[in-house]
Amino acid sequence: MRERIIMAEKQYVCGYTHCLHYGQKILQSEAVAVGSRKYHWDCAAQKQQMERIKDTYFSELNEVAPNKDEENNKFKILGKVLNDLIYKNDLNIDYVEFCVNYYASYKKKFKSPLILRYLNGNKVMERKWNNCKGR
Ligand SMILES: [Zn+2]
Repeated sequence: MRERIIMAEKQYVCGYTHCLHYGQKILQSEAVAVGSRKYHWDCAAQKQQMERIKDTYFSELNEVAPNKDEENNKFKILGKVLNDLIYKNDLNIDYVEFCVNYYASYKKKFKSPLILRYLNGNKVMERKWNNCKGR
């Protein structure tokens, strides 16, 4: 007699710390692999967008500090500021990216990533973003 074996589809835990699905497991067929980890597709997209914002900050906006320790600290500070804006203040990540790109297009330079905290409740930038979206 032949036995029917039903194989359950493999499931993964999303690798994104700020998983948009509250830690719901991902089916193998729906998982996106980045390196050795698996993600929900939208979590992978958000993670990449975060990386892009950080890259833009450091390649375009960062005014390099004379002190090396201070400079190295900025990675941590920027990560914290972005997490606060997006996961605590609930700002749209597209808005944050828009602002960073906007400042870059005007060749702005910042001494510290802390300045980005002012994107929260920034009526001027919000208006620019809304105008941009409407076009
Ligand atoms: Zn996820």
